[in-house]
Amino acid sequence: MGVTVCVGGQWGDEGKGKVVDLLSESAQMVIRSQGGNNAGHTVVTGGRTFKFNLVPSGILHPSTVCVIGNGVVLDPKVLLAEVEQLQSAGADLSNLVISERAHMIMPYHPVLDRLEEAARGDDRLGTTFRGVGPAYSDKVRRIGFRVGDLQKLRFLEKKLGFVLPLKNDVLVKLYGAPPFTVEGILAEYTEYGRRLERFIRDPFPLIQGAIARGERVILEGAQGTMLDLDLGTYPYVTSSYPSSGGALAGAGIGPSQVTSTVGVFKAYTTRVGYGPFPTELEGELAEYLRERGAEYGTTTGRARRVGWFDVPVARYAVAVNGIDALAITKLDVLDDLETVRICTGYRSKGRLEDHPMANISHLKHLEPVYEEHPGWRSSTRQARRWEELPAAARSYLERLAELSGARIELVSVGPERDETVWCGGAG
Ligand code: GDP
Repeated sequence: MGVTVCVGGQWGDEGKGKVVDLLSESAQMVIRSQGGNNAGHTVVTGGRTFKFNLVPSGILHPSTVCVIGNGVVLDPKVLLAEVEQLQSAGADLSNLVISERAHMIMPYHPVLDRLEEAARGDDRLGTTFRGVGPAYSDKVRRIGFRVGDLQKLRFLEKKLGFVLPLKNDVLVKLYGAPPFTVEGILAEYTEYGRRLERFIRDPFPLIQGAIARGERVILEGAQGTMLDLDLGTYPYVTSSYPSSGGALAGAGIGPSQVTSTVGVFKAYTTRVGYGPFPTELEGELAEYLRERGAEYGTTTGRARRVGWFDVPVARYAVAVNGIDALAITKLDVLDDLETVRICTGYRSKGRLEDHPMANISHLKHLEPVYEEHPGWRSSTRQARRWEELPAAARSYLERLAELSGARIELVSVGPERDETVWCGGAG
């Protein structure tokens, strides 16, 4: 019981959707606390695939209250499409709550996202063009619009009268793009407000009430630690805080209320978009892992870059998030390899580094130091207990846990819910 924080330990796409879905089976509440509709989760259950951008994946458990927290930015149009899609797939959304403090993506944000990326030229970040970064920037500039504003239309109109000229100035004068009108945005967002009204609330009493009653509350992270605005590979990061500290701020929960922090890691590493990736593989092996692991983005379909498991990254993630349990996913993707490698450190200008450095130009020119382990060359997909995993796979996992500094709680060996090995702390 108590609060479990679930964070991505790498560059996102670690399989948090499945892990949160498993953890939320016994949870009364799941809170998505940060990020926007640039993130995506996939949950496979009973042969059906559900894709989530904003709605917490706990929604598939009918009695679980699912909260979109104050740290999220959301595009109401995208959220409504997701709500409709989930409803038509038979999901019950009566337990969905959207924080009135969550910020909204406005129609000019995706336009500015695209224009700003183009202006960066070779230094582009590889954003998803959903307007998430520009919306977070406006939140920090204190010219953002919050979900609660949809319930105060006169206030929304007055604020647009002040904010929109600032936005239009940039669009028209800097980029030669067409301007937006107050009337157009007001009409569009009034309609969103009408359709979202039944979900909009202040979740503070709900969340603190659940904690006070000793219920199980899961914080569902989006993206991963190495994409954290402060702790990741800046500037090739997301515009929010995927680390556990960000998750708490984005849900309105204090650190002493947390019982456990689960770090989700793939048994190898992937990264989407640009930026340093010390253990990146190229060529045939990369292609093989990408195909076998279906490493294409949930939101954009972009091919992910792939590489070996990176212990300096994992150890760093364990420390900065306070991770006490590991969930290792996609072990099955490595099933047929003759050998597997673990990066234990980086060599840089004759020195051995054991954690990712702040200076990304250093990270780009590192030589990873690898340990090689024998592969297990047999399927792990039928394993349900630790002892049922091949001995070589167990050794590999034990070594990952030992080097990363946390125990293994579960190993995922396939996308389905039941393709899971609960280990209760191996390694
Ligand atoms: P998230 O954003 O961290 O939730 O990750 P995604 O949902 O984008 O990516 C995870 C993908 O891997 C999804 O398609 C899952 O169905 C799939 N997946 C999750 N766990 C496993 C696993 O153990 N093995 C395999 N083969 N696929 C998995």
